[in-house]
Order: sequence, then structure tokens, then C-alpha cells
Amino acid sequence: VKELFPFIPALRLRAVSALLLLPLLLTLLSGPASGAGEELRCAQCGAPIRPGERYLRSGALAFCSNACMDAYWRKSLPKCAVCGAPVSNGFKKDGKVYCSESCLSTTWPKCVVCGLKTPKGILVNGEAGKFVCEACSQKPRCFDCGMPGDGRRRLPDGRFLCEACFMASVADIDDALRVFDSVRKGMRGSLGLSTSHRINLSLVGLDKLEKMSGKSGEGTEYGLFEYTATVETMSAPGAGSAKRVSDEAWSVYALYGLSPDKLAEVLSHELAHDWMQTCYPGIKDARVKEGWAEYVSWRMNALSGRQALNKRIELNQDPVYGAGFRFIRQKAEKDGMEGLKAFFRRLSNSGGAE
Ligand SMILES: [Zn+2]
Ligand SMILES: [Zn+2]
Ligand SMILES: [Zn+2]
Ligand SMILES: [Zn+2]
Ligand SMILES: [Zn+2]
Repeated sequence: VKELFPFIPALRLRAVSALLLLPLLLTLLSGPASGAGEELRCAQCGAPIRPGERYLRSGALAFCSNACMDAYWRKSLPKCAVCGAPVSNGFKKDGKVYCSESCLSTTWPKCVVCGLKTPKGILVNGEAGKFVCEACSQKPRCFDCGMPGDGRRRLPDGRFLCEACFMASVADIDDALRVFDSVRKGMRGSLGLSTSHRINLSLVGLDKLEKMSGKSGEGTEYGLFEYTATVETMSAPGAGSAKRVSDEAWSVYALYGLSPDKLAEVLSHELAHDWMQTCYPGIKDARVKEGWAEYVSWRMNALSGRQALNKRIELNQDPVYGAGFRFIRQKAEKDGMEGLKAFFRRLSNSGGAE
């Protein structure tokens, strides 16, 4: 989820073309024959070039001496955008020229971790303001904000948090329960989504969560919803079969060490699974289930001032989570919540396939 995009610097170091010098034909000539009527003057100092006098010609321009010609061309050269020196052989970037690598280097982005200016590095989470140099990008990254750096706190499951994220993170089940209760209340009040059974909330490490959800790495959820029950099928000859469900239990697991905002987003997602499992238990399609859960967290984020977290949901390219979210959002915007529920009902009754 925390992706680091390689930062490709917009600068193509390119020596200013030799055209800026003077590839023009320089010809050493003798002045015009007297009486030819041609009035020749030095393009730099303006001194007349008399008949028979030796002079230099560059294209249509004439110069009385090498010094005048040099001065003329130096004057016409582009100026370094940093120090103002004339640039005959330097670098070009974004339409500006730079006389030297040291002047050019002042335009390089500054690493937000160590302050070094360098053309090579990455943008943390793809954010323009978060440029990090190559060396710093190798340092442990904060699991929450994605920033690499030294002095990271190491959590028992191996994740790192920066000091600021560590201080703000939810590590305590009582704090987590407060977030949980407010999210559950908010979902009922704002979206009309609620269930009435007791849900056990636990905070777990990434190791345990990955083991429980059976996946790891990319696409790992920050939480998990679990419903367990004992289902007995009783069949009597001639009377068909009946199902008896007992020992039902609902559990939500969330990672410890998340920010309160991220935890609230994760809990909205898991509570959306709980609602769907309770109201439309027949739905099997992962794209619908995860898309719905992502849609509910997206709505709750927007309703609770956590819009900043919605970028991840909207830009997610995952075929289940990202595509599922866009599918459900489109359906909700077209048919409304009631239309969405009718769709869920059909899907649930048909055993998950539309
Ligand atoms: Zn001259
Ligand atoms: Zn310069
Ligand atoms: Zn750095
Ligand atoms: Zn952090
Ligand atoms: Zn989910």
C-alpha cells in the first residue's frame, strides 16, 4: 500500500549545442577594394575597416580583430541562470542554461531527510513534496507515513514507525475500542448501516494478520473481519433439509500501531464486511465484498474529515479492491443506496453470481 515511486528527474543533462559557440565560417579577408562603395564596420567596436586592411568575417558580420570577435560572441552567449556567466558549453534544463554542474546542482531537488541536493532519488508515496535521495531511501521506512529515516521505532512484528507516527499511533485496546465505537455509531447514523450483535475487537501484529488472512505483501489488508458459526444440516426423509446455525461469533482484527485516522478507515472497512455478512450472507464475489468495504470506508473518510486517505482508495489499481470500489461507487451514484441493496439482495439469493 505504501508505494515508493522512482523519482525521474525532469532534467536531461545536455551540453548546450555547439550552435551557441560559433560554427560559422570565419574567413580572414582583406578589406574591400577602394572605391567599391562598400562601407565595412566592425560589428563589435564599430571601427571602419579600410580597403586592404585584414579583417575577420563570420557570416554577414565583420570584425576588426580576434578580440572584438570574441567579445561579440561572449556578449551574445546565453547567461547562466544561476551566476550570470556567459555559457558556451554547459547544461540546459527547462529552457534555462547553466554554466557548470555546480550551478546546475542548485536546481536539484532537496532530500527532505538529509537535505542533500541530488538529481537521483524517489518521491515517497508519489508525493511531489516528499523527495528523498537514493541513500536515504534505503533507510527503514515508517509503516504509517512512508518516510524513511534513522531512529525509527521497531514494532514487535518488525514494522517501523517514525517518532511522530509512533507517538500518535493506537497501541492500546481501550483507545482502539473508542475509535471502534465511534465508527460503528457513525456508520449507523450517517449511512444507516448497522448490526446489533457483539463484535470482538482485537489489535494484532502484521505477522498474525497475514497468517489469518492467508496472504502477505502487496494488497495486505490492515484489518480482518471474521464470522464463525456452527451450521448443522438436518434432513428428514421426505421433508427436505433444514439448517441450524449456532455458536455465531463476529470478530474484527486490526493492526496495532496505526494512526487513529487510519484505524478508523480500517474499522469502517471491516464493519462494512460485517454488515454485508449479516444482511446478504450469500454474496461470494470478492470484488463486490471488497469493493463495498472500500466504498464504505471512502464514504466514512469523507464524512469524518479524513479525505486525505481517500486518494489511496481512488487510485488503487488492484483488480479486486480498486476495481471493486469503482464498480460499487458507480452503482451507488447511479441507483442510490436502495438500488445497491436490491443488487446485493439479488446477488445474495443467487449464491453470489449475477
Ligand atoms: Zn573592432
Ligand atoms: Zn553559473
Ligand atoms: Zn537524503
Ligand atoms: Zn511516520
Ligand atoms: Zn476486506
